[in-house]
Formats: sequence, structure tokens, C-alpha cells
Amino acid sequence: MSAEIVKPKIFEQLKTVIDPDLHTDIVTAGFVKSVSITEQGIVDLTVELTIPTCPLQSKFKVEIEQKLLSIEGIKKVNIHFTSRKRAGVQMSQQNSLNQIHAVIAISACKGGVGKSTIASFLARALQRKGFRVGLMDLDIYGPSLPTLMSRPHADVAIIDERILPVEVDNLLTMSLGYILGDAPAVLRGPLVSTYTSQLIHQTEWGPLDFLIIDLPPGTGDIQLTLLQQVALDGAIIVTTPQTLSLVDVTRGILMFEKLHVPVLGVIENMSYFVCDNCGKKHFLFGNGTADLPERFGLPILANIPLLSNFHDASTKNAGEEYNTIWEPLIEKIQHEIGKRRANTLSSPEVHIKENELIIDWKDGKFSEISLANLRRACRCAYCVDELTGEPLLKPEEVPEDIKIEEIQPLGHYAVSIFWSDGHTSSIYPWDFLKNLVPPHS
Ligand SMILES: [Zn+2]
Ligand SMILES: [Zn+2]
Repeated sequence: MSAEIVKPKIFEQLKTVIDPDLHTDIVTAGFVKSVSITEQGIVDLTVELTIPTCPLQSKFKVEIEQKLLSIEGIKKVNIHFTSRKRAGVQMSQQNSLNQIHAVIAISACKGGVGKSTIASFLARALQRKGFRVGLMDLDIYGPSLPTLMSRPHADVAIIDERILPVEVDNLLTMSLGYILGDAPAVLRGPLVSTYTSQLIHQTEWGPLDFLIIDLPPGTGDIQLTLLQQVALDGAIIVTTPQTLSLVDVTRGILMFEKLHVPVLGVIENMSYFVCDNCGKKHFLFGNGTADLPERFGLPILANIPLLSNFHDASTKNAGEEYNTIWEPLIEKIQHEIGKRRANTLSSPEVHIKENELIIDWKDGKFSEISLANLRRACRCAYCVDELTGEPLLKPEEVPEDIKIEEIQPLGHYAVSIFWSDGHTSSIYPWDFLKNLVPPHS
């Protein structure tokens, strides 16, 4: 059997295996790392996925085997799956986060939306799925992890300047609350920044699949300072229908994008409750986040109902509704991280020509729109009423000679524009622009 003859056929077949997230084949996506074939017709194939234990792994395995075995002369196919390393900035050689595959921040624009609870139950669910997980609570305003983990007075061990995580039923946890304990409030201020950077840089997590970081709510300097110390793979914004404010969500997105942290999506908490009487889902505050995907191009990762047992995450099996809520959430998170790590995704490019914005979709097609009309199409909370959907911006208020002061792509999903009329909250998802001005060749 001649490898020179068979190898092109192997690649031909591999090129028909499509990654449903990336809409591209696994060869073009760069997943196929090595192919070798023996005289006896045994193929050894290394496939590198974007994330460890990618949910698509078994699908790929079946499809690749089936397709390669259809080639004449191939008797057996061995597939080795590996995963791509995270590309995060290395803060220092000593950084304890280097052995972690994915670091995800859970954030909220406001307090009281159940962010810490979601972080804890997400960590438990990841653990239940077989991952090695760490959970770091950096919420300086009210670290709630000690309560959620039923460890109000955990002893934190420090060995050779390394801080050992507190293990709670196999989950590795660290919280400012463990260290500050019942320290009087006056002591807290100056200690907080010292302690947070120590927790970030000196906690000895060891090798982990996921580290979940519970950030303090808000989008101020404290959050920025924390975020600059960690190379994040993605951030998730938690909101509730009753506190949802599009202005806050915009601020959150801009904060993460400024630091080049991709926002993976939004979790809507306290969306609904399941009625004891009729068994139906009752939505208390309407379908709050339903139009976020359209406004910002961000996916809703989960709608989490009011859950009765939502305060104790101290045991391995904590978390009601594992199959219906947490497991699908994990799969969505994995897909979103994978999409962003894959280097094949190229964002459209924009440039300004006279008074038009030209979008190069990178597939040979282009769209043009006048700057004034683009400004008029803004759907931010100042331009369109959040609740009624009524336009607040009058088209005639926009001068025909309006200029763009600053334009910045937001990850792979949208573009943010600062206008010469002082308007700085415009976010246009690519999909929205595609509908607004259909691409042509
Ligand atoms: Zn009912
Ligand atoms: Zn606007």
C-alpha cells in the first residue's frame, strides 16, 4: 500500500467532515495535526480540538472512521484527540494560572442578581461532568462563597507563599471571605487590593480544566484592575429580567472588550418559576433578555428559573435541573469558547470612505452605508426605548455630515462606534448590519 496514493484520498475525505460551529471542515480549521499510514493499511490520525473534551469529539470520531474506512486499502483507523492550549497572556512565569485550560469570569452589572450562586452551581455542574474545577470568589463587596459552601470559618493554609485552595466535597475553592472572615469593615478597604492580587497570583490550583472567577458586580476601576491581572478565556454576564438595563449591559461588554476578553454570552437568572399548581412556566417579569441577541449579537446561554434549593452548593450533586439547565449551559459555554479559540474565524473589516462606512465581509462581498443613516439605525437604549421599542432618536436630529470618532470591532460579533455628536453607546452586531445593508460582490 503506497502512502503517497492514499494520503490525498484521506485528506479528501477529512475535508468533508464539517465543524457545525465553525461552518468549516476540520482540515481547513487546522484541526488535523498529523496523518500516518502503515503498509498494512492502519491510519494514525491526530486531531486537535479547540477545547478539552469538546462535545463534538464523539461525532467527529464516528464520522472520520466511517469515511476513512470507505477508502480502498484502509483497514483500521486510530484517532488521537488533543486540545489546543489557551493563548492567554502570560503574566509571569510563577503564575499559578498557567496549568489551567480555561478561565471564565462570571460578572454582573448590578448586585443581587444571583451571580455568585450561578458561579457556584456552574462549577458544581462542570465537576459533575467530570472536569477538574476551581472556583475563585473575588467579590470584595460581599464574598458569599463561604456561605454557599457552608464553610463560614475555613482555615486557609499558606505554604512557601503559596495559598492552598479550600476543598469542599472535591471542589477547589478560594474566597476573600475565607481570609477576611469577620474582620471589621474598617480593616477591609486597604487590605482588599493586597489580598485580591495575592489570591489571583498565589493560589495553588494545580492542573484544572476550568477556573470560574466570581467578579465583584459593576464595571468600575476595581473590576478593571482585577481583570488586568488574569488572562481570561471569556466572560459571562449574569442579569435578571427585572434589573436588566441595556445601558449596563453595554458598559459590561465595552469593559471586557477593552481588555480583549471575549464575552461568551448572557445568563438570565430568575427568569421564571415552575408553578406547583399547573406545572407551567410563569414568567414574572416578561421575556427580559429576549432581544439581547439582536441588539448585541450575543447568545443567551441559559434562562435559569427561581429554584427552591438555590443556596447550598456545598455538595457534589448540588444543583437542581442538572439535565435541563446546567448540562446544556456547559455545552453552550464550550461551543462559545471553541468558536473564539479557533483561528479560522475572521471578523469583517471596516473602513470609512468620505461619508460612508464600507464593510468588507471577507468573503468577497461588501456593504456600504452612509454614516448619517448608520447613526440613525442605532438601537441603543438612548435611541430606542428599552421597554416600548419606540424610537427616541429623531432622524432629522442627525446631521448629514456626522463623523465617526472611534470605531472598534467587538470580538467576532459586533462593532462599537463613538460618534462626533457625542453618542458613545452604539453597538452594531454584524448580523444586524448584514440585514440593514445586504452584502454585494
Ligand atoms: Zn400556574
Ligand atoms: Zn444609540
